[in-house]
Amino acid sequence: MTTRIKHLYLHVPFCNSICFYCDFCHRVYDEKLAYRWLDRLKSEIEDNCKDKYETIYIGGGTPSSLNEDQLERLLTMIDPYTGECLEYTVEINPESLSEDKICILKKHRVNRISMGVQSSDDQILRSLNRRHDFACAKEKIALLKRYGFENISVDLMYSLPGQDLDILNRTIDDILGLDVKHVSLYSLTIEENSVFGKKGIDHLDEDIEADMYELIDSRMNEAGYIHYEISNFCKEGYQSRHNMGYWDYDDFLGLSAGASGKIGNNRYSNTRSLERYLNEKDIRDEDLHLSRKEMMFENIMMSLRTIYGLDIEEFNRKYDSDLIREYPLGISNKYIEIRDGKMFCTKPEILNSILLDFMD
Ligand code: SF4
Repeated sequence: MTTRIKHLYLHVPFCNSICFYCDFCHRVYDEKLAYRWLDRLKSEIEDNCKDKYETIYIGGGTPSSLNEDQLERLLTMIDPYTGECLEYTVEINPESLSEDKICILKKHRVNRISMGVQSSDDQILRSLNRRHDFACAKEKIALLKRYGFENISVDLMYSLPGQDLDILNRTIDDILGLDVKHVSLYSLTIEENSVFGKKGIDHLDEDIEADMYELIDSRMNEAGYIHYEISNFCKEGYQSRHNMGYWDYDDFLGLSAGASGKIGNNRYSNTRSLERYLNEKDIRDEDLHLSRKEMMFENIMMSLRTIYGLDIEEFNRKYDSDLIREYPLGISNKYIEIRDGKMFCTKPEILNSILLDFMD
Protein backbone atom coordinates (compact mmCIF):
# COMPACT_ATOMS: atom_id res chain seq x y z
CA MET A 1 0.00 0.00 0.00
CA THR A 2 1.40 3.39 -0.91
CA THR A 3 0.60 6.23 1.45
CA ARG A 4 0.36 9.78 0.39
CA ILE A 5 3.38 11.95 1.17
CA LYS A 6 2.26 15.23 2.70
CA HIS A 7 5.50 17.18 2.83
CA LEU A 8 7.95 18.32 0.20
CA TYR A 9 11.37 19.83 0.87
CA LEU A 10 13.44 21.28 -1.95
CA HIS A 11 17.04 22.40 -1.47
CA VAL A 12 18.46 25.32 -3.44
CA PRO A 13 22.22 24.75 -3.30
CA PHE A 14 23.34 28.33 -3.97
CA CYS A 15 24.23 31.27 -1.74
CA ASN A 16 25.52 34.72 -2.60
CA SER A 17 28.39 34.24 -0.18
CA ILE A 18 29.38 31.68 2.38
CA CYS A 19 28.78 32.38 6.06
CA PHE A 20 31.75 31.47 8.22
CA TYR A 21 29.79 29.06 10.45
CA CYS A 22 28.02 27.15 7.71
CA ASP A 23 28.75 23.79 6.17
CA PHE A 24 25.38 23.21 4.49
CA CYS A 25 25.27 22.10 0.90
CA HIS A 26 25.87 25.31 -1.00
CA ARG A 27 27.85 26.94 -3.78
CA VAL A 28 28.49 30.57 -4.42
CA TYR A 29 25.74 31.55 -6.85
CA ASP A 30 26.67 31.30 -10.50
CA GLU A 31 24.00 32.21 -13.04
CA LYS A 32 24.89 29.59 -15.65
CA LEU A 33 25.23 26.83 -13.09
CA ALA A 34 21.90 27.78 -11.57
CA TYR A 35 20.20 27.39 -14.99
CA ARG A 36 21.80 23.94 -15.37
CA TRP A 37 20.61 23.05 -11.86
CA LEU A 38 17.06 24.09 -12.79
CA ASP A 39 17.13 21.83 -15.87
CA ARG A 40 18.27 18.88 -13.77
CA LEU A 41 15.72 19.66 -11.08
CA LYS A 42 12.92 19.66 -13.65
CA SER A 43 13.55 16.00 -14.44
CA GLU A 44 13.91 15.13 -10.74
CA ILE A 45 10.55 16.76 -10.03
CA GLU A 46 8.88 14.97 -12.94
CA ASP A 47 10.27 11.62 -11.78
CA ASN A 48 9.40 11.98 -8.11
CA CYS A 49 6.52 14.37 -7.45
CA LYS A 50 3.23 12.53 -7.53
CA ASP A 51 1.19 14.17 -4.82
CA LYS A 52 -0.31 17.50 -3.93
CA TYR A 53 1.56 18.45 -0.80
CA GLU A 54 0.14 19.91 2.41
CA THR A 55 3.40 21.67 3.13
CA ILE A 56 6.18 22.73 0.81
CA TYR A 57 9.46 24.15 2.03
CA ILE A 58 12.04 25.59 -0.34
CA GLY A 59 15.22 26.01 1.67
CA GLY A 60 18.91 26.04 1.12
CA GLY A 61 21.35 27.49 0.57
CA THR A 62 19.54 30.68 -0.28
CA PRO A 63 16.54 30.41 -2.63
CA SER A 64 16.50 34.21 -2.96
CA SER A 65 20.00 34.10 -4.48
CA LEU A 66 18.37 32.91 -7.72
CA ASN A 67 17.65 35.69 -10.18
CA GLU A 68 14.03 36.68 -10.92
CA ASP A 69 13.74 34.50 -14.01
CA GLN A 70 15.14 31.48 -12.17
CA LEU A 71 12.87 31.98 -9.17
CA GLU A 72 9.90 32.22 -11.52
CA ARG A 73 10.96 28.99 -13.28
CA LEU A 74 11.49 27.17 -10.02
CA LEU A 75 8.11 28.09 -8.57
CA THR A 76 6.38 27.33 -11.88
CA MET A 77 7.80 23.79 -11.71
CA ILE A 78 6.29 23.39 -8.25
CA ASP A 79 2.90 24.90 -9.17
CA PRO A 80 1.26 21.57 -10.16
CA TYR A 81 1.84 20.24 -6.63
CA THR A 82 0.59 23.19 -4.60
CA GLY A 83 -3.15 22.55 -4.98
CA GLU A 84 -3.74 21.44 -1.38
CA CYS A 85 -0.87 23.30 0.15
CA LEU A 86 -1.61 24.78 3.58
CA GLU A 87 1.85 26.14 4.18
CA TYR A 88 4.31 27.08 1.45
CA THR A 89 7.58 28.44 2.81
CA VAL A 90 10.53 29.96 0.99
CA GLU A 91 13.76 30.85 2.78
CA ILE A 92 15.26 34.18 1.92
CA ASN A 93 18.18 36.35 2.89
CA PRO A 94 17.47 40.06 3.27
CA GLU A 95 20.06 41.38 0.82
CA SER A 96 18.90 39.25 -2.11
CA LEU A 97 15.19 39.90 -1.78
CA SER A 98 13.89 42.39 -4.34
CA GLU A 99 10.39 43.77 -4.81
CA ASP A 100 10.14 41.77 -8.05
CA LYS A 101 11.01 38.55 -6.23
CA ILE A 102 8.35 39.28 -3.60
CA CYS A 103 5.80 39.64 -6.44
CA ILE A 104 6.91 36.27 -7.87
CA LEU A 105 6.52 34.60 -4.46
CA LYS A 106 3.08 36.12 -4.09
CA LYS A 107 2.00 35.08 -7.59
CA HIS A 108 2.89 31.45 -6.86
CA ARG A 109 0.97 31.46 -3.58
CA VAL A 110 3.95 31.22 -1.24
CA ASN A 111 2.41 32.06 2.13
CA ARG A 112 5.29 31.83 4.59
CA ILE A 113 8.73 33.41 4.55
CA SER A 114 11.69 32.28 6.60
CA MET A 115 14.34 34.99 6.76
CA GLY A 116 17.93 34.56 7.91
CA VAL A 117 18.36 37.54 10.23
CA GLN A 118 20.64 35.88 12.84
CA SER A 119 21.53 39.00 14.85
CA SER A 120 20.79 42.71 15.00
CA ASP A 121 24.39 43.54 15.84
CA ASP A 122 26.04 44.64 12.60
CA GLN A 123 29.53 43.92 13.86
CA ILE A 124 28.53 40.35 14.68
CA LEU A 125 26.83 40.00 11.29
CA ARG A 126 30.07 41.08 9.60
CA SER A 127 32.08 38.65 11.70
CA LEU A 128 29.82 35.84 10.44
CA ASN A 129 30.30 37.03 6.83
CA ARG A 130 26.63 37.86 6.48
CA ARG A 131 26.02 40.27 3.60
CA HIS A 132 23.22 42.27 5.18
CA ASP A 133 22.93 44.56 8.14
CA PHE A 134 19.99 44.66 10.50
CA ALA A 135 18.49 47.75 8.83
CA CYS A 136 18.25 45.76 5.59
CA ALA A 137 16.46 42.88 7.34
CA LYS A 138 14.04 45.33 8.95
CA GLU A 139 13.34 47.07 5.66
CA LYS A 140 12.67 43.76 3.84
CA ILE A 141 10.34 42.53 6.56
CA ALA A 142 8.36 45.78 6.31
CA LEU A 143 8.24 45.33 2.52
CA LEU A 144 7.04 41.73 2.82
CA LYS A 145 4.30 42.86 5.18
CA ARG A 146 3.25 45.58 2.73
CA TYR A 147 2.80 42.83 0.12
CA GLY A 148 0.58 40.90 2.50
CA PHE A 149 3.00 38.33 3.92
CA GLU A 150 1.99 38.02 7.53
CA ASN A 151 3.45 34.59 8.32
CA ILE A 152 7.12 35.48 8.64
CA SER A 153 9.72 33.53 10.56
CA VAL A 154 13.19 34.79 11.39
CA ASP A 155 16.32 32.88 12.39
CA LEU A 156 18.14 34.06 15.48
CA MET A 157 21.62 32.85 16.41
CA TYR A 158 23.21 32.81 19.84
CA SER A 159 26.41 31.64 21.48
CA LEU A 160 28.30 33.61 18.84
CA PRO A 161 31.89 34.84 19.11
CA GLY A 162 31.82 38.39 20.47
CA GLN A 163 28.26 38.04 21.77
CA ASP A 164 27.54 38.52 25.45
CA LEU A 165 24.28 38.64 27.41
CA ASP A 166 23.92 42.44 26.93
CA ILE A 167 24.37 42.22 23.17
CA LEU A 168 21.96 39.30 23.05
CA ASN A 169 19.43 41.21 25.13
CA ARG A 170 19.52 44.12 22.66
CA THR A 171 19.19 41.67 19.78
CA ILE A 172 16.11 40.15 21.40
CA ASP A 173 14.61 43.68 21.72
CA ASP A 174 15.25 44.23 18.02
CA ILE A 175 13.86 40.83 17.01
CA LEU A 176 10.71 41.46 19.06
CA GLY A 177 10.46 44.86 17.37
CA LEU A 178 10.11 43.08 14.01
CA ASP A 179 6.76 41.74 15.21
CA VAL A 180 7.01 38.44 13.34
CA LYS A 181 4.97 35.31 13.98
CA HIS A 182 7.79 32.80 14.37
CA VAL A 183 11.39 32.73 15.56
CA SER A 184 13.80 29.82 15.07
CA LEU A 185 16.77 29.62 17.35
CA TYR A 186 20.23 28.38 16.39
CA SER A 187 23.09 27.96 18.78
CA LEU A 188 26.41 28.24 16.99
CA THR A 189 28.07 24.89 16.47
CA ILE A 190 31.58 24.95 15.09
CA GLU A 191 31.42 22.63 12.09
CA GLU A 192 34.73 21.11 11.07
CA ASN A 193 34.28 22.05 7.42
CA SER A 194 33.10 25.60 8.02
CA VAL A 195 35.43 28.61 7.86
CA PHE A 196 35.17 28.90 11.67
CA GLY A 197 36.07 25.21 12.00
CA LYS A 198 39.09 25.61 9.76
CA LYS A 199 40.21 28.73 11.65
CA GLY A 200 39.95 26.85 14.95
CA ILE A 201 37.40 29.28 16.46
CA ASP A 202 36.37 28.13 19.92
CA HIS A 203 32.85 27.52 21.05
CA LEU A 204 31.58 29.76 23.88
CA ASP A 205 31.55 28.32 27.36
CA GLU A 206 28.63 25.91 27.91
CA ASP A 207 27.39 27.79 30.98
CA ILE A 208 27.19 31.05 29.03
CA GLU A 209 25.36 29.24 26.25
CA ALA A 210 22.85 27.86 28.77
CA ASP A 211 22.36 31.38 30.25
CA MET A 212 21.73 32.72 26.75
CA TYR A 213 19.14 30.02 26.04
CA GLU A 214 17.37 30.83 29.31
CA LEU A 215 17.42 34.55 28.55
CA ILE A 216 15.87 34.02 25.12
CA ASP A 217 13.32 31.60 26.54
CA SER A 218 12.14 33.96 29.27
CA ARG A 219 12.08 37.07 27.06
CA MET A 220 10.19 35.33 24.26
CA ASN A 221 7.67 33.89 26.73
CA GLU A 222 7.12 37.33 28.27
CA ALA A 223 6.49 38.69 24.79
CA GLY A 224 3.70 36.15 24.20
CA TYR A 225 5.53 33.60 22.07
CA ILE A 226 4.91 29.90 22.64
CA HIS A 227 8.10 27.88 23.06
CA TYR A 228 6.60 24.95 21.17
CA GLU A 229 9.76 23.11 20.21
CA ILE A 230 13.28 23.09 21.69
CA SER A 231 14.48 25.76 19.26
CA ASN A 232 11.27 27.32 17.96
CA PHE A 233 8.90 29.99 19.19
CA CYS A 234 5.66 31.17 17.63
CA LYS A 235 2.61 33.26 18.16
CA GLU A 236 -0.57 31.23 18.72
CA GLY A 237 -1.55 29.36 15.55
CA TYR A 238 1.75 29.95 13.74
CA GLN A 239 3.60 26.71 14.46
CA SER A 240 5.54 25.62 11.40
CA ARG A 241 3.33 22.94 9.85
CA HIS A 242 6.20 21.67 7.74
CA ASN A 243 8.52 21.22 10.68
CA MET A 244 5.68 19.70 12.72
CA GLY A 245 5.67 17.04 9.99
CA TYR A 246 9.31 16.21 10.82
CA TRP A 247 8.59 16.16 14.55
CA ASP A 248 5.51 13.96 14.03
CA TYR A 249 7.83 11.65 12.07
CA ASP A 250 5.77 11.94 8.90
CA ASP A 251 7.15 10.92 5.53
CA PHE A 252 8.59 13.66 3.37
CA LEU A 253 10.06 13.91 -0.08
CA GLY A 254 13.41 15.71 -0.34
CA LEU A 255 14.54 17.02 -3.70
CA SER A 256 17.81 18.33 -5.16
CA ALA A 257 21.45 18.13 -4.10
CA GLY A 258 21.85 18.28 -0.35
CA ALA A 259 18.27 17.25 0.48
CA SER A 260 17.20 14.22 2.43
CA GLY A 261 13.86 12.45 2.64
CA LYS A 262 12.01 9.68 4.45
CA ILE A 263 9.44 7.44 2.87
CA GLY A 264 8.20 4.54 4.98
CA ASN A 265 11.23 2.74 6.35
CA ASN A 266 13.53 4.27 3.75
CA ARG A 267 15.61 7.30 4.71
CA TYR A 268 17.83 8.78 2.04
CA SER A 269 20.23 11.64 1.51
CA ASN A 270 20.99 13.06 -1.89
CA THR A 271 24.54 13.87 -2.85
CA ARG A 272 25.96 17.17 -1.62
CA SER A 273 28.04 17.40 -4.79
CA LEU A 274 26.47 19.71 -7.35
CA GLU A 275 28.65 18.14 -10.08
CA ARG A 276 27.33 14.69 -9.33
CA TYR A 277 23.78 16.00 -9.13
CA LEU A 278 24.11 17.65 -12.53
CA ASN A 279 25.86 14.78 -14.29
CA GLU A 280 24.67 11.50 -12.83
CA LYS A 281 21.36 9.71 -12.72
CA ASP A 282 21.98 8.12 -9.31
CA ILE A 283 22.15 11.00 -6.85
CA ARG A 284 21.75 9.09 -3.59
CA ASP A 285 24.60 9.27 -1.09
CA GLU A 286 22.80 7.31 1.53
CA ASP A 287 19.83 4.97 1.23
CA LEU A 288 18.99 3.42 4.57
CA HIS A 289 16.37 0.84 5.39
CA LEU A 290 15.37 1.48 8.96
CA SER A 291 14.37 -1.36 11.24
CA ARG A 292 11.13 -1.17 13.23
CA LYS A 293 13.19 -0.51 16.39
CA GLU A 294 15.13 2.32 14.70
CA MET A 295 11.94 3.95 13.47
CA MET A 296 10.35 3.70 16.90
CA PHE A 297 13.36 5.35 18.50
CA GLU A 298 13.51 8.11 15.88
CA ASN A 299 9.77 8.71 16.28
CA ILE A 300 10.19 9.11 20.05
CA MET A 301 13.23 11.33 19.58
CA MET A 302 11.41 13.68 17.20
CA SER A 303 8.09 13.81 19.03
CA LEU A 304 9.61 14.62 22.41
CA ARG A 305 11.07 17.82 20.95
CA THR A 306 7.71 19.57 21.01
CA ILE A 307 5.29 20.56 23.76
CA TYR A 308 2.64 18.45 21.98
CA GLY A 309 4.39 15.19 22.88
CA LEU A 310 3.87 11.74 21.43
CA ASP A 311 0.42 10.19 21.01
CA ILE A 312 0.84 6.75 22.61
CA GLU A 313 -2.15 5.06 20.96
CA GLU A 314 -1.10 6.21 17.52
CA PHE A 315 2.47 5.10 18.17
CA ASN A 316 1.31 1.64 19.32
CA ARG A 317 -0.87 1.29 16.24
CA LYS A 318 1.85 2.44 13.86
CA TYR A 319 4.47 0.00 15.17
CA ASP A 320 2.20 -2.74 16.54
CA SER A 321 3.81 -2.01 19.85
CA ASP A 322 3.20 -1.25 23.50
CA LEU A 323 5.28 1.80 24.31
CA ILE A 324 4.93 1.58 28.08
CA ARG A 325 6.12 -2.04 28.15
CA GLU A 326 8.82 -1.63 25.52
CA TYR A 327 10.52 1.35 27.19
CA PRO A 328 10.28 0.84 30.97
CA LEU A 329 13.54 2.71 31.61
CA GLY A 330 12.60 5.60 29.33
CA ILE A 331 9.19 6.22 30.79
CA SER A 332 10.58 6.13 34.33
CA ASN A 333 12.99 8.99 33.57
CA LYS A 334 12.08 11.91 35.87
CA TYR A 335 11.74 14.27 32.91
CA ILE A 336 9.24 12.03 31.10
CA GLU A 337 5.57 12.59 31.83
CA ILE A 338 2.58 10.54 30.67
CA ARG A 339 -0.69 12.39 30.62
CA ASP A 340 -3.91 12.27 28.56
CA GLY A 341 -2.63 9.39 26.44
CA LYS A 342 0.53 11.27 25.48
CA MET A 343 4.16 11.17 26.46
CA PHE A 344 5.99 14.45 27.08
CA CYS A 345 9.50 15.52 27.87
CA THR A 346 9.51 18.20 30.58
CA LYS A 347 13.13 19.26 29.99
CA PRO A 348 13.65 19.13 26.23
CA GLU A 349 16.90 21.15 26.40
CA ILE A 350 18.57 17.98 27.76
CA LEU A 351 16.62 15.63 25.51
CA ASN A 352 19.75 13.90 24.18
CA SER A 353 20.69 12.59 27.58
CA ILE A 354 17.07 11.62 28.37
CA LEU A 355 16.93 9.63 25.14
CA LEU A 356 19.71 7.35 26.38
CA ASP A 357 17.05 5.69 28.52
CA PHE A 358 15.07 4.86 25.37
CA MET A 359 18.01 3.08 23.78
CA ASP A 360 18.53 -0.65 23.95
S1 SF4 B 1 23.91 30.12 6.55
FE1 SF4 B 1 22.52 30.15 4.84
S2 SF4 B 1 23.20 31.92 3.61
FE2 SF4 B 1 24.88 31.41 4.97
S3 SF4 B 1 26.18 30.05 3.75
FE3 SF4 B 1 24.80 28.76 4.99
S4 SF4 B 1 23.07 28.33 3.68
FE4 SF4 B 1 24.19 30.07 2.78
